[in-house]
Amino acid sequence: MSLNFIGFLVVTALVLMAMVPVVVHQWRKDRRALALLAEAHELGTHEVVSLHPRVDEGLCIGCGECVRGCPEQDVLVTLRNKAHVAHAVECVGHGICERVCPVGAITLVIGTETRGAEIPRLTEHFETNVPGLYVVGELGGMGLIRNAIWQATQAVQHLAAQPRERGRDTLDVLVVGAGPAGLAAALVAQQAGLRFRVIEQGTLGGSILHYPRKKLVMTHPIVLSGVGEIPFREVEKEPLLAFWLGVLERRGIEVEEGVRLEKVERADGEFRAHTTAGLIPSRRIVLALGRRGTPRRLEVPGEELSKVAYRLIEPELYDGQRVVVVGGGSSALEAAMALAKRPRTTVTLCHRRAEFGGARAPLIQRLLLLEREGMVEILRDARVTAILPDRVDFDVAGQPASRPNDYVFILVGGVAPYALLKACGVDLETKFGTPILRG
Ligand SMILES: Cc1cc2nc3c(=O)[nH]c(=O)nc-3n(C[C@H](O)[C@H](O)[C@H](O)COP(=O)(O)OP(=O)(O)OC[C@H]3O[C@@H](n4cnc5c(N)ncnc54)[C@H](O)[C@@H]3O)c2cc1C
Repeated sequence: MSLNFIGFLVVTALVLMAMVPVVVHQWRKDRRALALLAEAHELGTHEVVSLHPRVDEGLCIGCGECVRGCPEQDVLVTLRNKAHVAHAVECVGHGICERVCPVGAITLVIGTETRGAEIPRLTEHFETNVPGLYVVGELGGMGLIRNAIWQATQAVQHLAAQPRERGRDTLDVLVVGAGPAGLAAALVAQQAGLRFRVIEQGTLGGSILHYPRKKLVMTHPIVLSGVGEIPFREVEKEPLLAFWLGVLERRGIEVEEGVRLEKVERADGEFRAHTTAGLIPSRRIVLALGRRGTPRRLEVPGEELSKVAYRLIEPELYDGQRVVVVGGGSSALEAAMALAKRPRTTVTLCHRRAEFGGARAPLIQRLLLLEREGMVEILRDARVTAILPDRVDFDVAGQPASRPNDYVFILVGGVAPYALLKACGVDLETKFGTPILRG
């Protein structure tokens, strides 16, 4: 064997040794990306009508900046040097992917080519076609706390500039919803000297309360009218809520919690808002309802009992209690697992199917592990037939069953707020993959 040939073999071996880790790394990355895309397609989370990124594959160079920039998990993934949308449902509209893409291959859109998203037709002041009725925040199609605050500020400043003849008991403005948009609307209304009320079907905070993760990201500074800049760029949800509560307390603004808007009528030039706390007359209304809608009910006997709730906020309040969680999606699974980890809490999860098709694989695996460890009981093919003060009755695959019970959490999704908008006479337009400009 000549020295040249030996030299050739050595160099080839060195090159191969150097390349192996790179190839293995790339192979592992592609395998993970393929699994993620398959999972998203299986769950149907790759295609949403709400705000999400669209990748132009012709332009994409697969640099991965969008994947690295996105603060959410697994919205985007790179596979074979192209970015792909995986769990589009996780997108909340930060728009960082669009901004950091060096070749302009990403656009934030609403709706898809085949599935339209309905959003209200609004003026530049966020007024609908019904004069005096405004829609602000995520209900208008655009996500993010800063957009919600900015839109609410614009809307209330606009309505405050209108002439103010008023009846005896008539408000200048009724704010519906106490998420970031509704809270900002209330602050601006107070600053403008308007007579206003704020109603909220649940508890104040809006979508923020539902974040499964703790950390929130605000990519731009946010200014609150009369308060100044919100002092966070990255914050956990508890301090953010504490901040809102502090501001409301200092400004003496009261949010009427547990009051739902059900219908709006117009008569004699003013609105009559039908709410669960009675009729509220108001000259103007700001709808800051978000997109989550009203929690879906089971419509079973006993659902009106005070031990029934439609969301879980503080699992630690249920230590040592016997709890039933109803649902098979991510929120139900997360709630069941959070409760199962509390000391002496007994958890029964009631799911109407045999499989968990509506949640992501890691979540399902963690739940099944807890089931094997005896920390969660899962009733499959099951539905609740009645809720009684001390127990819950079920139909489990055609057989009656019952469990002693202290609390019930019904987490089976929500009824979108668009029916309410239509009933108010608001014109909606359907967007099919239309690019959205962020404020
Ligand atoms: C998982 C997740 C993570 C997110 N992360 C971020 C982030 O890091 N940074 C960021 O800027 N944004 C984030 N967002 C988006 C942000 O939370 C929303 O865009 C924002 O909360 C929208 O505010 P909103 O006031 O329009 O609606 P919401 O916050 O949804 O509030 C609407 C309120 O209206 C109430 N309501 C609804 N219907 C009625 C009715 N009929 N009567 C009375 N009250 C009613 C609801 O109960 C709710 O409290 C995230 C969203 C989610 C889901």
